[in-house]
Amino acid sequence: MRFDLMHPADQLVMIMQRIYEYGMTTTSGGNLSIRDENGDVWITPSGIDKGSLTRSDMIQIKPDGEKIGMHRPSVELPLHLQIYQIRPDLKAVLHAHPPTMIAFSLVRQVPNTRLVPDVLKICGEVGVAEYAVPGSDLLGQNIARRFQEGYNTVLMENHGCVIGAKDLFTAFAAFETLDFSGRLEIDALKLGKPRSLTQAQLDAYAAPRNLAMDAFIPKYATSAERAARRDMCRFIHRSYDQRLFTATQGTYSQRLGEDTFLITPYDKDRKYLQPEDLVLIKNGMCEAGKTPSRSVALHRAIYEAHPDVGSVLIAHAPSIMAFAVTDTPFDSRLIPESYISLRQVSKMPFLSSTTDISGVAGAFSAKHPVLIIENQCVICTGKDLLNAFDRLEVLEFSAKAVIAAKEIGPVVQINDQQVKEIEVAFKLS
Ligand SMILES: [Zn+2]
Repeated sequence: MRFDLMHPADQLVMIMQRIYEYGMTTTSGGNLSIRDENGDVWITPSGIDKGSLTRSDMIQIKPDGEKIGMHRPSVELPLHLQIYQIRPDLKAVLHAHPPTMIAFSLVRQVPNTRLVPDVLKICGEVGVAEYAVPGSDLLGQNIARRFQEGYNTVLMENHGCVIGAKDLFTAFAAFETLDFSGRLEIDALKLGKPRSLTQAQLDAYAAPRNLAMDAFIPKYATSAERAARRDMCRFIHRSYDQRLFTATQGTYSQRLGEDTFLITPYDKDRKYLQPEDLVLIKNGMCEAGKTPSRSVALHRAIYEAHPDVGSVLIAHAPSIMAFAVTDTPFDSRLIPESYISLRQVSKMPFLSSTTDISGVAGAFSAKHPVLIIENQCVICTGKDLLNAFDRLEVLEFSAKAVIAAKEIGPVVQINDQQVKEIEVAFKLS
């Protein structure tokens, strides 16, 4: 799907629905705008239910101030216009009050954008705008000042956040990433002291990697491949809808045969991923015209080392990532389901999945089907798609449960004898 070919009013409807569905705005709060090539600003209306917006609810503001549309524009129109005036490079502005960002704005703390590497890249540094009455010129000025200083992401004191970007999807991706990272940080603070990445680590992550692969043109798609493309899309959409993935992060692969597998593409919206977007990898070569996930070499190495692994999944789900950014170990001896599904979950150092591919691939076994890469991601293997997805779900649910339990009292793990009983009852090797 080409988001950039959609009309501005349709883009506003689609992204507002998405923000509302994922609990990142109330029906009355939040507003979006797009500036098109004519200088017209398209903005969401004031006082219309966010759950049932249509394209005809959107308002078009001409450069001379003329308003075209059925409703009044959002009361925050002045802040949108001031940002556009100050930053000709920005073509979309997103403003909302997600609970996570409100929380940071209440304690006047900026979310830490250095817990996982992509947050800083996607959101940039976060500026802070001083409190002022909604819809006032003063609030617009306070925010515009931060944008003038070069910030694209601004936290508003006792209010929410505002994000400017080159297009609305980019603004949404930054908003969602910031929300994810904020939830991760809040969870991590309940476990221990979150460990920030150093500048050297961020630089090492950003350093160019040689990902070049020879290309090939597949002659035909087997029925097994077509089924895998269909099923992968179903699980990728589900992972996104369950908030285990963000729009551009989260990787799935499925083995098809000898040194052949399908993998998610790099940097494509997971919510609308279609079977034809998935990338076929065969004998180390890549389907022509497509860019696979940057972790493609790791997936290949895992399949090579483990004939019993049929699917590999990499994710950044917030609760389990709280364990990845603190020194708190994740012990799966919680409930029988956790232990049966996850066995022993160990951690490996930041960047090891790119600098030590064979070491990471070799660390998986029946007893270690899941790995945490510090400050980076979790990797789940499975005999098939469902098995890998189930492990990610169990991992995130278990992490969430431990974090919640911390607020109630000390956690009692299943003891060694009980673990042995589970291993016998479920024939675990
Ligand atoms: Zn607001």
